[in-house]
Amino acid sequence: MEVVPGVHAVPGVRWSRAYLIVESEQLALIDSGPPMSARRVFRYVESIGRRPEELRHVMMTHGHPDHVGSARAIVKRTGAVVHAHTSDTHRKRRGSRRYLGGATGIVARVPLVRTTEAHFQVEHGQVADLLGGLRVVHTPGHTPGSVCYLLEREGLLFSGDTLFSDGERVSRSAPFPGYNRDDYVASLRALAEMEFGVLCGGHGEPLLRGASRRLRELLDARPEPPTWGGFFGSIPRRMRVRRPFTGEW
Ligand SMILES: [Zn+2]
Ligand SMILES: [Zn+2]
Repeated sequence: MEVVPGVHAVPGVRWSRAYLIVESEQLALIDSGPPMSARRVFRYVESIGRRPEELRHVMMTHGHPDHVGSARAIVKRTGAVVHAHTSDTHRKRRGSRRYLGGATGIVARVPLVRTTEAHFQVEHGQVADLLGGLRVVHTPGHTPGSVCYLLEREGLLFSGDTLFSDGERVSRSAPFPGYNRDDYVASLRALAEMEFGVLCGGHGEPLLRGASRRLRELLDARPEPPTWGGFFGSIPRRMRVRRPFTGEW
């Protein structure tokens, strides 16, 4: 599914989202999907007439296993470079390289999730040379190393788990392991000062217009970020109207 020219939401990746950036010279991924997604990514790449070996970069939004889970398998086949913020990585031994996934200090060891080396440390303000410029916005809160990527030309924000959409509304994350409320509130305020029409979240459906305006409306209406109490309290209503279980009600 092409969200805007050159940005595809990879179909078949379940639960979380992986987005494929398509350029004539190379391909890149935003997040790798949960474990067992690599073959689905490769199949999609082939379905648009490209080769998995053209994947050069995997840009991580954060270190949670549902986003990192297939990076190792993707790197193994393609040799792609994994980009991540240092705050979501850990060293296996003193002085060793930095890794994502597994025992990161923010998530316990998760079955099926193999650690992945983070080859390149992203920092706030860096601009990757993809689709005319993909700007790194450090947005700690969901996890310490959560980042969003702003595709400046399209006004499109890849928000990881910092923000979600169901295709209509903007919503926020519940406090999963690694969460810090004050950081999260500050990051949301910073995002609300930016302009982006399109929101590609780490779960749910892309929102195609008016995204930053909707974020401002949400923060005005409900300044407090979601809690687990509110999340669990909303489950009966979600089941009744079949709302997805990501983000606040
Ligand atoms: Zn997450
Ligand atoms: Zn997630």
